[in-house]
Amino acid sequence: SRQFTRPLNDLANQFNTLLSAIAGAERVFEILDEEEEFKNERLLHELPQVKGEVEFKNVTFSYEEESKTVKNINLHVYPGETAAFVGPTGAGKTTMINLLSRFYDVDSGSIYIDGHDLSKVKKESLRKYMGFVLQDSFMFQGTVRENIRYGRLDASDAEVVEAAKLANAHSFIIRLPEGYDTVLSQEGSGISQGQKQLLSIARAFLANPSILILDEATSSIDTVTELKIQAALQKLMKGRTSFVIAHRLNTIQNADRIFVLDEGRIIEEGNHDSLLKKKGFYYQLHGKAAASEA
Ligand code: ADP
Repeated sequence: SRQFTRPLNDLANQFNTLLSAIAGAERVFEILDEEEEFKNERLLHELPQVKGEVEFKNVTFSYEEESKTVKNINLHVYPGETAAFVGPTGAGKTTMINLLSRFYDVDSGSIYIDGHDLSKVKKESLRKYMGFVLQDSFMFQGTVRENIRYGRLDASDAEVVEAAKLANAHSFIIRLPEGYDTVLSQEGSGISQGQKQLLSIARAFLANPSILILDEATSSIDTVTELKIQAALQKLMKGRTSFVIAHRLNTIQNADRIFVLDEGRIIEEGNHDSLLKKKGFYYQLHGKAAASEA
């Protein structure tokens, strides 16, 4: 799911440029969306505080004109539930997330959050309620503290530390040469990929979003950090609606709703037990995944 991070990485790069220009004064999404949304400002409204009910109705989308990438998607996820997208590479898992986050807009059909049609709300107000924990969590040039505070710019130092503790990041941070004042490069060099994920989890705790987007790491992270990530994510996901591009069997098994995607369609839907009983696509996929994890 490398493609998924493409728009986010683009954003991150723009963000880094912006940040050095304006010294972190404002939230990135507001700035990036302002221009685009200026034209139809009056037609869009602020999304009020949401519980996190998400519905896709007959959603169809393609990146390029000739082909349909996702076709006639219908799904309904209730507040606090965990939804897992599974399926082969290219099935459309990341695209679903791109549409929900409005990095792209649907061609037809609609997406609703708590009954609000996303095409009618300001993106910046949508993203206020969304948190992202991605495989390649982006870091910007700045201290660890600033990198965490990006989750909520008015957070106090104490709140930053509290979020880091919730994210199981505090213990590694205080062992860095300058602790919370350690400067990270734009690539986040000096800390591991797993540690970057812990920082992005801390960010998400600060942001306190109703809807979480998780893109599970496929590359290997050392076992200890991996366990810390898992435990922190479990805490983070509690009480929030989560959409996971899932690679770990454990995550998938614990999801309330599993959507099996293939060639841009939802071909099966259910929880782990009900899908296994069907002995269909998921059952086969699971067999292969279990074999490769064993
Ligand atoms: P998955 O996450 O399940 O691997 P994706 O949603 O990334 O699948 O991709 C679905 C299809 O859309 C694939 O055929 C992929 O090549 C294509 N695709 C993904 N991102 C883009 C993009 N930015 N531009 C054009 N095509 C894309």
